[in-house]
Amino acid sequence: MAQTYPKSFKNCAVCNFWGGNRQVDTFGQRVTVDSSSSKGKCLLQGGPWKGQDKQASSQCNKWQAWGALK
Ligand code: SF4
Repeated sequence: MAQTYPKSFKNCAVCNFWGGNRQVDTFGQRVTVDSSSSKGKCLLQGGPWKGQDKQASSQCNKWQAWGALK
């Protein structure tokens, strides 16, 4: 089931370093993924999860807002 998160939500789906499939809404306020368990690689160089598959709903303290958001 598709899952939508507001831009204030600090999980991988909303993070600048997540490599999974996601869509941003027209206004840059929300991110939608196929499922909260959809996976994508963490692309943060030097981060604790670099290169590892992370679920959309995962969180870590290196989070930064996705650049597609306004
Ligand atoms: S593990 Fe952390 S840095 Fe990597 S995508 Fe998720 S929230 Fe972002």
